[in-house]
Amino acid sequence: MRVCAIVAHPDDEVLGPGGTLIGHADNGDEVAVLILGEGFASRGGPRDEVDRAIKELRRAAEKAAEVMGVSRLGRHNLPDNRFDTVPLLDVTKSVEEFVLDFQPHVIYTHHGDDLNLDHGITSRAVLTALRPLPDATWREILFFETASSTEYNAWDATRAFVPNVWVDVSATLERKVAALAAYESEIREYPHPRSTEGIVVAARERGMRVGLPAAEAFYQVRRLIRWS
Ligand SMILES: [Zn+2]
Repeated sequence: MRVCAIVAHPDDEVLGPGGTLIGHADNGDEVAVLILGEGFASRGGPRDEVDRAIKELRRAAEKAAEVMGVSRLGRHNLPDNRFDTVPLLDVTKSVEEFVLDFQPHVIYTHHGDDLNLDHGITSRAVLTALRPLPDATWREILFFETASSTEYNAWDATRAFVPNVWVDVSATLERKVAALAAYESEIREYPHPRSTEGIVVAARERGMRVGLPAAEAFYQVRRLIRWS
């Protein structure tokens, strides 16, 4: 089986479905990650500083991929926190190219109503690229939650992240934490949700809901069962 995570920023692939991707790799599935954005906002800083930070994030993404058993890592360089300055068609085309090449069966991507706008645009581009056309080869699309973005939005009945799939990450949580350690610059101190302890606490809490020591929670958008 071919599995992929399509994410906005370097570190989202770990924060969201990291433990699950490791589980897939352990299971013998081919795992790919596509990161659409640069992941670093220039905020008017000197260009060489920005370039250095982006390079560092690229190296971190490679290291995290190695820890997680990701065999293919795709990168684009959409501007951080400014995906809305790029036509949605172009974002969708980047996803389409990747999907055409990798032909994934299972796709993990962002919940569409995260506070971070790049996450929402990524989610929309993925749904557009993977719309249910007659010759589609995918079998399942799932949304993940991203610490310090999904829960930061104002939730109401239509925008809340309401999971209906849980994946046991008891055996992979330690490696998820190790993969996150590659992103040194992105990790904060507990009780920030994007901290080592925060990631573990969240996994324990998700697990507890379904009788597991640790879990990652997903919203299954679409599952297609075909006999041929
Ligand atoms: Zn992100």
